[in-house]
Amino acid sequence: MSEFKRTLVTAALPYANGPKHIGHIAGAYLPADIYVRFLRNIGKEVIFVCGSDEHGTAIPIQAKKEGITSQQMIDKYHALLKSNFEQLGIAFDVYHRTSEKLHHETAQAMFLEMYEKGLFTEEVSEQYYDEENQTFLADRYIKGTCPNCSYDNAFGDQCEKCGNSLNPTDLINPVSTISGNKPILKATKHWYLPLQNQEEWLKEWLVEGHKHDWKTNVYGQSKSWIDGGLSPRAMTRDLDWGIKVPLKDAEGKVLYVWFDAPIGYISATKALFKELGEGKTEFAYPQNTTLKNVKADDWATWWQDDTTRLLHFIGKDNIVFHCIIFPAMLHSTGQYIVPDNVPANEFLNLEGDKMSTSRKWSVEMEDYFNAFPGKEDVLRYVLTAIAPETKDADFSWKDFQTRNNSELVSILGNFINRVAVLTHKFYEGKVPANVAPTEKETDLIAEIKRCQTAIAENIEHFKFREALFEMMNIARAGNKYLADNEPWKTVKTDQARTDTVMFHGLQIAAHLAWWMEPFIPYTAQKLYGLLNFEKVNYQFDAFVQLQSGHEISQPSLLFQNIEDDIIQLQLDNLKQKSEKKAIDNIAPAANSEASLEPLKPQITFDDFSKMDLRVGTVLEAEKVEKADKLLKLKVDLGFEQRTIVSGIALDFTPESMIGKQITILANLAPRKIKGIESNGMILMGKNLDGSLKLIAPNELADNGATVA
Ligand SMILES: [Zn+2]
Repeated sequence: MSEFKRTLVTAALPYANGPKHIGHIAGAYLPADIYVRFLRNIGKEVIFVCGSDEHGTAIPIQAKKEGITSQQMIDKYHALLKSNFEQLGIAFDVYHRTSEKLHHETAQAMFLEMYEKGLFTEEVSEQYYDEENQTFLADRYIKGTCPNCSYDNAFGDQCEKCGNSLNPTDLINPVSTISGNKPILKATKHWYLPLQNQEEWLKEWLVEGHKHDWKTNVYGQSKSWIDGGLSPRAMTRDLDWGIKVPLKDAEGKVLYVWFDAPIGYISATKALFKELGEGKTEFAYPQNTTLKNVKADDWATWWQDDTTRLLHFIGKDNIVFHCIIFPAMLHSTGQYIVPDNVPANEFLNLEGDKMSTSRKWSVEMEDYFNAFPGKEDVLRYVLTAIAPETKDADFSWKDFQTRNNSELVSILGNFINRVAVLTHKFYEGKVPANVAPTEKETDLIAEIKRCQTAIAENIEHFKFREALFEMMNIARAGNKYLADNEPWKTVKTDQARTDTVMFHGLQIAAHLAWWMEPFIPYTAQKLYGLLNFEKVNYQFDAFVQLQSGHEISQPSLLFQNIEDDIIQLQLDNLKQKSEKKAIDNIAPAANSEASLEPLKPQITFDDFSKMDLRVGTVLEAEKVEKADKLLKLKVDLGFEQRTIVSGIALDFTPESMIGKQITILANLAPRKIKGIESNGMILMGKNLDGSLKLIAPNELADNGATVA
């Protein structure tokens, strides 16, 4: 492997069809920002690019809903996203947008280059067409049941439940999302990227080459796609919103959004270097020497020189595009580098439930800023502390409050405040002399060094939770040191000892400012101010950062407690918003005389605990003869397999049940139904219209797992 000289970091282009919530931030932008800030601080060459993704079918769909044009919509959300990121301190070197001319040209040039190299196949195929609206139904204009996981609302390009990428013709029972009609098939020509031709290379690069350095979730997903066999993917669409296909016989066709969006990373880089070449001097990070004295053409070094390390930070729903399709595009041109790592995060839930803007179960950036002015770092801190790095994680307002009050205020804020207040009280704000250090100080210095090494190593391996914990360990060590040595007591008896202890306390504060900066940059800035110290003067390998006699500024608190009523307000708001949404959603059903069933009489906990609820997987399913409503299922409970007869045949086909995880009442007495002994009952939700929904675990669970 070649030695890397520079690092190009990208964060997933957010889709400009609405505001983004804290789950998006935790997924891609915050970890990327921490990583980049750290590299900048240690003097590495690095750039950080991002921008708004403004094409694809979801833009016109959402614009129609909001009663505005597609252009108005992308302008509105591009501005909102850009300002949200800035406010949270996500320090991109460039935040571009895919509606820019430069991007259209870049994407078209890449398409043409691949076309001329014969990398596409042309295929006339039957595609779904909405007769009422006289339009082909690409991607999100069509939905239906996922052939892999049977999710009912899978889109024509991807199932959001299982993450599999799809073609519209894969969907079971497809429906037009424009008219709600069943579509017809109509012939149309498109350009396909035959991914199967790249299997050999992908196996060598990804399956063999990144077995050990990629996260298991990312590697596992990618490998299973490659192992399952790749097939041609259409890179063009019949649509009027997007980048025109730059060929003569392509009237009415645009590039597939997942073809053009990742190229957005390249055009953002080009835009950055173009501005720098024209003399732009304002950078997100002014000390970044990487960006000094460059020419517009230098962008190519960052994408085409194999001494550049390319990293894509994304959420897990984008893995296939960043690990297979985009690398296949880059590689096939023969000029571009491919990613060295794709540290994708899992999802962040909210109060135990999946976060969703459309269901109003989310905390949007704007809402947070309004509710907690000046507390950007608290959000950065909490989202890093609970980051969904290896599995889905949960954000709760109570935990947010606890982490602020018991960690930021009590550990970090308290340590800094003690040091600053005592320095003013004992020494009129001046750093005392290091009179007589003892073994205690040697141990302290060793612990600080250990924390610093651990932070750096964890960041390098994309373990930001661990890294943050080690940063807090510096403050913990400082607090313990002060508590063990009690300078507020020794000041009356032992001036030399007091001076030594306070000298060391102040050095730790200076170290904290530098090491906290990637995680909580606004607080770091405050602390630099408080210490009257500057980041550029930090000496990486030295313990002493503040010389004796150096004068610090007046103490001020870095963090404040968050009170219960503020947290309760957030919980109430969330509940209200989602309840209102739920009422909006069921209103039509309520009009058609459906109503909720009345609540049954109260039971005790003992009554409840008599029920043995278990998770199981359906192994086999078949219809029961002469019984329209019944399915006979064989269910694997981990410890045994059982037969259960269930009255769900009108809502579920046997095929759609196989492989599904379900919840069953496992200790229900056996009974004979149509001559078959049924051992247990499947849990179902019954909608107001009488339709049934499976009550299944949100994520894959162990068979036989108890439910309580
Ligand atoms: Zn699916």
